This record gives sequence, C-alpha cells and structure tokens, in this order.
Amino acid sequence: MGEDASLDEFLNSESSEQSGAADADASTTTYAWSDGAATCGTCGEAVERRWQQAGDLVCVECKDWDRA
Ligand SMILES: [Zn+2]
Repeated sequence: MGEDASLDEFLNSESSEQSGAADADASTTTYAWSDGAATCGTCGEAVERRWQQAGDLVCVECKDWDRA
C-alpha cells in the first residue's frame, strides 16, 4: 500500500484548483476560461468563455467551428 500512501501525499500537496487544471489540460490549448468577463478578439463582446482562433481569443459566436 506504499504507492497508495505516496499518491495520497502527492494529491494532498496539490490544490484542487491545480488538479482541475491538469484534468482539463487537453482542452486548455484551444479554450480559455476567465473568472470575470473577457473581451472577444473579433466582436469585442464581453464573454466568459473564449476559444483560440487565428491567434485571437473569440467568443462562441465568432468561433468558426467548421474550420476547427
Ligand atoms: Zn465575438
């Protein structure tokens, strides 16, 4: 059970916030979340969720899903 004990220590040393970020690592490359409103790089709309597109972070309305 030594491995379990060390895993528990490892998990306890990590904040839940960091663990969540690690779990979502695959999606953070194309998806950005901000706690407050952030501005869309295309239309300037204040939104909470934006996606990367052509080097900008854009809102769901401006994201070209067909080209993703
Ligand atoms: Zn937009």
